[in-house]
Amino acid sequence: MSKKHYLETLYPTWGQNFVMDEVLFEVDTGHQHLVIFNNAQWGTVMALDGVIQTTEKDEFVYHEMMTHVPMFAHGNAKKVLIIGGGDGGILREVLKHPEVESVTQVEIDQQVIDMCVEYLPNHSAGAYDNPKANIVIADGVDFVNECTEKFDVIISDSTDPMGPGEVLFTSRFYQGIANCLNEGGVFVAQNGVSFLQTDEVITTHKRLSPLFTEASFYSAAVPTYVGGIMTFAWATNNLTLKHVDLDILEARFAQANLSTRFYTPALHQACFALPRYILDAIK
Ligand code: SAM
Repeated sequence: MSKKHYLETLYPTWGQNFVMDEVLFEVDTGHQHLVIFNNAQWGTVMALDGVIQTTEKDEFVYHEMMTHVPMFAHGNAKKVLIIGGGDGGILREVLKHPEVESVTQVEIDQQVIDMCVEYLPNHSAGAYDNPKANIVIADGVDFVNECTEKFDVIISDSTDPMGPGEVLFTSRFYQGIANCLNEGGVFVAQNGVSFLQTDEVITTHKRLSPLFTEASFYSAAVPTYVGGIMTFAWATNNLTLKHVDLDILEARFAQANLSTRFYTPALHQACFALPRYILDAIK
């Protein structure tokens, strides 16, 4: 019997195609369509609403760059907030930093957490049972607008700006972020593949700029976020955070004594250098 295929539908006229060797789980959660399947090239894959979210093989690229760039730039983040991140990869990486006292994760869909713990156990790798982790099931836009706590690093690991994720790219969400970011803190967010989703970069830059002294981006090439480099939004009122000396980054990295497979201090410094087409787009 021929195997089923998963066609990513993020782009109407082009996309990646996965042979599904085995469908492990599929459901409409009430928030989104969730499917988890095995693929010979990428291992176990999770997709939401037709968009690839994470794969066993390349998840470390995204989760390390989304976490360690803000964490090592800040250097002493005691309180961290994650929006989204249901697969648990960001939570796992944040908890590797010894200075962290508490991580609050606000995820809208409990089933994403439950199914990823079951079928992608190495993503969270026990992080959900860590006493420092405080898991809140809620819409991130409501949480940040009602929250009275403040955080040193805020990471928005959301789906694309459609369905439940759409609100996490609005000015109302960014205003909420500004309200709950500590003095000297930094906010980062997944902001799409800039070559194909350039409008997302432009829109995010327009919406963040009035709220923060610095609104910029950094990048990394995540293999299954197809189309070139993935762009991460960077927003802070502390202009020094983007320019931490390499020897300080190296000292912080050595001090944290955590293992990575993609992130290095040198790559941290380099990832803020943006291609001309992005610089022109956000001018
Ligand atoms: N790494 C993926 C990417 O870059 O596309 C995203 C990973 S993670 C699976 C995205 C998470 O955002 C999902 O667990 C989804 O349920 C969650 N999410 C979407 N909209 C949300 C909202 N408004 N509030 C909180 N979590 C949300």
